[in-house]
Amino acid sequence: MADSSFNPFKMAQQQFDAIAEQLNLDQATRDFLRNPDREFQFNIPVRMDDGSYKVFRGFRVQHSDARGPSKGGIRFHPQETIDTVRALAMWMTWKTAVVDIPLGGGKGGVICDPHNLSMREQEGIARGWARQIARNVGPVQDVPAPDVMTTGQHMVWMLDEYERITGTKAPGMITGKPVGLGGSLGRTEATGYGVMYTVREACKKLNIDIAKTTAAFQGFGNVSQYAVDLYTKLGGKAIAVSCWDHEDKKSYTYRKMSGLTFEELIKVTNKFGEIDKAKAQEMGFEILPGDAWIEQAVDILVPAAIENQITKDSVMKIAPTVKIVAEGANGPTTPEADEVLKSRGILNIPDFLANAGGVTCSYFEQVQCNMNYFWTKEEVLDKLDQKMTAAFHAVYNLAQERKIYMRDAAYLISISRVAEACKLRGWV
Ligand code: NAD
Repeated sequence: MADSSFNPFKMAQQQFDAIAEQLNLDQATRDFLRNPDREFQFNIPVRMDDGSYKVFRGFRVQHSDARGPSKGGIRFHPQETIDTVRALAMWMTWKTAVVDIPLGGGKGGVICDPHNLSMREQEGIARGWARQIARNVGPVQDVPAPDVMTTGQHMVWMLDEYERITGTKAPGMITGKPVGLGGSLGRTEATGYGVMYTVREACKKLNIDIAKTTAAFQGFGNVSQYAVDLYTKLGGKAIAVSCWDHEDKKSYTYRKMSGLTFEELIKVTNKFGEIDKAKAQEMGFEILPGDAWIEQAVDILVPAAIENQITKDSVMKIAPTVKIVAEGANGPTTPEADEVLKSRGILNIPDFLANAGGVTCSYFEQVQCNMNYFWTKEEVLDKLDQKMTAAFHAVYNLAQERKIYMRDAAYLISISRVAEACKLRGWV
């Protein structure tokens, strides 16, 4: 698990400061962008199933709306902190800018553990969150979406509450909704597939045949599941996935050297992306310690679980065979670990580029909601592939041209786009 001394917001600011220096940004633009535009913290009182009342703490941080309405997910997590939400909101600003969609960055969360809450209690939290923030979100202000431990059902409850309060029908207020209620086809696959579109392009650039590669994944939730799915469809061999086990309160790595598939593993995975140990063992998986995924002798590593996983210590365990690290999760690599990846010449596809497929498809969802006209899945995934491929090449080409690390190139592109929008608006 993430250690308690780690502050993701400090890390996000540290990354921003370094690029602001390289871009020679003026002081006012730096001051403006290194802190969120605005943030909200509020109480969410909920009547529990046993009749008692419990108060949950909710957050929404709008880091930037310079390029369009803020955009970003809502997490339900027992260890949620305002600094995690701030960091994630800032990364959303860079993410929407790097794929060049007309949206800004925001993030939300509630401190709670859905494992211990009934669906009715979760509905109370979701509706309470929307009630508290209804005046400050919406299709033209700030557009939330699902993230860790929230689903399309949570989004519909939030939308319904918002529409009751505003007396409107405004499906573009929130994305990640179920198909049939304003959701977009392809959204479930979007983030994981997006990760793999960038991996596919990276393999081409490195002259590697993806069909001859092997990979290990951390996480088997929404992102990792579809990254594994497309990776194996492209011919790659996935040999290990690691995920959390809430009963044992630790993670395990599930390994099958002959190659695993999305279809077989999904059968023994719950809705939180946790694999049933006993059933996996029956299916021939080896059960290894949770951090074993990182030391596999593979070509590609995909951290797609939580932040702060490739650290100055764990990075030393990465095998010499590894050529690509594709960051499905937000903030999985610390700046110290970045230095090691850099010095070893490993191609890092940074989080806000690699996992931008989700927000790109959310943007498509919004466009479809606003038009009230919906595209086929093929159309959505095709448009997604084009956006991700173009964004990957723009970042890769700049990195090559300036001989810089991929994360720095991605930051240079996105921060200069956001800074330019602030300038054009006359804010700084
Ligand atoms: P999820 O809740 O569906 O799955 C999370 C997975 O991580 C689960 O398999 C869980 O068991 C595993 N996990 C949790 N703690 C772990 C640990 N200590 N060790 C190993 N595995 C652990 O979440 P998700 O939607 O797949 O999101 C994963 C990451 O990707 C997060 O960082 C999220 O912010 C980011 N992300 C998600 C999306 C999206 O569209 N879902 C988009 C962009 C970024």
